[in-house]
Amino acid sequence: MAYEKTDNIEQKQVSSKDISFMDAALSYERSNKAKSDFLSNMSHEIRTPMNAIIGLTNLLLKTKLDKQQKKYLTVLQSSADGLMELINDLLDIDKIESEVIELENAPFNIISLIEKVTYDLLPAAKGKGIGINVQYEAGLYKELIGDSGRIRQILGNLVENAVKFTEKGFVSVSLSSRDTTGGRKEIAISVADTGIGIPTDKLHEVFGKFIQGDSSITRRYGGTGLGLAISKLLAEQMGGSIIVASEVGVGSNFTLHLTLQVEDEHNSALLYEKNIIYLDKKVRNKELPILLVEDHEPNIMVATNLLNEFSYKYDVAHNGQEALEKFSPDKYSLILLDIEMPFMDGYQTTKQIREFENTRGGHIPIIALTAHALKGERDKCIEAGIDDYITKPFNPHQLQSMILKHLSPRQH
Ligand code: ADP
Repeated sequence: MAYEKTDNIEQKQVSSKDISFMDAALSYERSNKAKSDFLSNMSHEIRTPMNAIIGLTNLLLKTKLDKQQKKYLTVLQSSADGLMELINDLLDIDKIESEVIELENAPFNIISLIEKVTYDLLPAAKGKGIGINVQYEAGLYKELIGDSGRIRQILGNLVENAVKFTEKGFVSVSLSSRDTTGGRKEIAISVADTGIGIPTDKLHEVFGKFIQGDSSITRRYGGTGLGLAISKLLAEQMGGSIIVASEVGVGSNFTLHLTLQVEDEHNSALLYEKNIIYLDKKVRNKELPILLVEDHEPNIMVATNLLNEFSYKYDVAHNGQEALEKFSPDKYSLILLDIEMPFMDGYQTTKQIREFENTRGGHIPIIALTAHALKGERDKCIEAGIDDYITKPFNPHQLQSMILKHLSPRQH
């Protein structure tokens, strides 16, 4: 009996150690789960009234207000937006830290992703009078496999910071890549700016949570101090990294490194011919104007508003005949051409321009703006001598990408 007892005691002692370890692990897991549940409930509970606050503030701002009421509401709006940003960042960082985020693995195009990010931040950059340049090597870009939403979040953060902390000059986003083993590609996306820079002794701190520059900087530029912490954690969860180099008064350079699988079943690798895209206002001003040929007044308004937004110079012709009268070699950089127009349609107009060029030389890119989404439309356009086409209604990004694709590099 005694032996049995001792044995039991011994067994009990061993298992009690195990149990206390398991208990600790279990209770850590439980408390983590409880924390996540709490945060996700809180998130819902906070979002519902926040939605009403933000929505109603926006509605109120559209009503007739006196100057002071408008001022108060604008402050309310930006405070509510700031609070929402903080809540989103806090929830995000909790999810990433407790490793409950699931990264997606789907094919995406890296160049389109970079262009989307820069396009979204273009209005903010333009508002400050700074340019955004995008650079990548010309060539074929096969789709990569990864979590494009999260990569976009990281890049968005880096470019947003670059714009935020730059008062004059430009932000430059560049992509370089090299093939590595196992059908994978190493990519490096650098976001460089000519902004305020970061002191050397603060460089290692910027990826910490709630770390911001000194309080005067925080007051001036706003933010939550969580963006870089989130970006770094995300990059690391994808097996990558972010490194930073910076000099006060000269600028900063944040580089995201990732190694991603190449989607090789996909045959439709996209060819990017341009190696440099400038969205810089100063460079834009040096370009020749775009000729918009369109007869429909509301569509002229849509297109010219977008061209203004992208800082392109332009001229308008209201029909094909007028376009031919206006056109001469080296006067325009590109033609945006409506297809259905009275007197002379887009096909006839193009034929005449191409005939003229056949004798005089030159080739102006012509992009058709067509309301036909029919299959044979592209062939019809190409046959007439049109270089490319977009189907109406197009979104701003489609128009911008199409123009950038066809603008001749020598103009930059
Ligand atoms: P936030 O921008 O919301 O303050 P971040 O985590 O994105 O938070 O950045 C942390 C801090 O790092 C910023 O407050 C700023 O001091 C510094 N920082 C980040 N990016 C830049 C940059 N491009 N130029 C200068 N300082 C930067």
